[in-house]
Amino acid sequence: MKKNWIILLLCTLLLTGCSVTSEPASKSQEQVQYSSSQEQGRADTETADNPDGRQSAKKQGASGKKTSAKSGRLEVHFIDVGQGDSALIKTGSHAMLIDAGDNSKGTAVQLYLKKQGITSLDYVIGTHPDSDHIGGLDVVIYKFDCKNILMPDCKNDTATYRDVIDSMKSKGYKAVHPKTGTKYSLGDATFTITGPVKKYKETNDNSISLRLVYQDTSFLFMGDATADTEPDIIAHTKNLRSDVLKVAHHGSKYSTSEEFFNKVKPEWAIISCAENNHYGFPSARVLNLMRGTHTKVFRTDEQGSLVAESDGSSIRWNASPSGTWKAGESTQSSKKTAHSGTPKTDSEKRADPSAPENQSISAEDATYVINVSSKKFHKPDCGSIRQMSRKNIQYTKQNRESLIKEGYAPCGSCQP
Ligand SMILES: [Zn+2]
Ligand SMILES: [Zn+2]
Repeated sequence: MKKNWIILLLCTLLLTGCSVTSEPASKSQEQVQYSSSQEQGRADTETADNPDGRQSAKKQGASGKKTSAKSGRLEVHFIDVGQGDSALIKTGSHAMLIDAGDNSKGTAVQLYLKKQGITSLDYVIGTHPDSDHIGGLDVVIYKFDCKNILMPDCKNDTATYRDVIDSMKSKGYKAVHPKTGTKYSLGDATFTITGPVKKYKETNDNSISLRLVYQDTSFLFMGDATADTEPDIIAHTKNLRSDVLKVAHHGSKYSTSEEFFNKVKPEWAIISCAENNHYGFPSARVLNLMRGTHTKVFRTDEQGSLVAESDGSSIRWNASPSGTWKAGESTQSSKKTAHSGTPKTDSEKRADPSAPENQSISAEDATYVINVSSKKFHKPDCGSIRQMSRKNIQYTKQNRESLIKEGYAPCGSCQP
């Protein structure tokens, strides 16, 4: 009799032991599983015409019955490409790539895609012909079967742009210039082009922007579109509300007006930029806008590649939001001095944070970057700029010829 009691007691202990260990496990999962179900008011026409949507899917899943059709997922990978953008969207056997970082990141993006089991891409989008977006696209185009290539009706007189065009020619591809409002399907997901609404003077403003919808979840990708284009986008797209916003232009102060941001009302915002970039990304104003609205921010400069996974009703992330609210602008002198006492990491070595900042206003409009010490000039995306001391960096809008006239020599590696 006593033995039975002891066995029973042991069993109870074991069982409670199990429940104790399972609790923190489910909590830690909760930590990254931020449900967007409270955002149901967001359901738009695109999801409304999905009659057997989220609710029935959930019930089927819970009862353990037929989940085959609804067991699908959509993954959005914001790939860390340093200073630049690249996002991979995967659902079922379908995939889409938006941008591929700069020239030095083509192979890294190729390998990332390969690791994800990608052999062909339903859509390849070069948001606009700036090197930090299309630089790596030629490698992707050469290496993968690309079914549709979307690019804006905007050329760029750069070797990077020509490389992309050449890669398309060699494979017999032609880019389509999508019109605002055009809806495409990617497996069970759809995306609608939200911009560019018209042809703009600035390259960034011609960025293809799009809203991706997967059942009740949505993502807005803004490329580098500036605030100048936002009223046009608002005027042409009825519903901009999205769970996730890929913040325009690396979080720059020239994009993401309060009015626009409030139309999107994202729960999560992604900023793709390089650590210690010379452009001052992301800006304090944009970060404050997000902080004030309790938007959760993810940053590739701090967190590396970020992955959002949607089951159609909620979105889970591979990391917790950033929470540093650290702006890239030179206003934070106190933080810089705090840095100087600590041992430097590799990435901090690239740009000495204690050196005086040389962030002229035209930094992001610069055609070239001059090293005032070596008297060389570089393309703004040249890798060697990272090795330069900030006090030697000078941004310029001058053209190649006038720089050479002034005695500057083109960099041997980026060949401006
Ligand atoms: Zn950019
Ligand atoms: Zn750009």
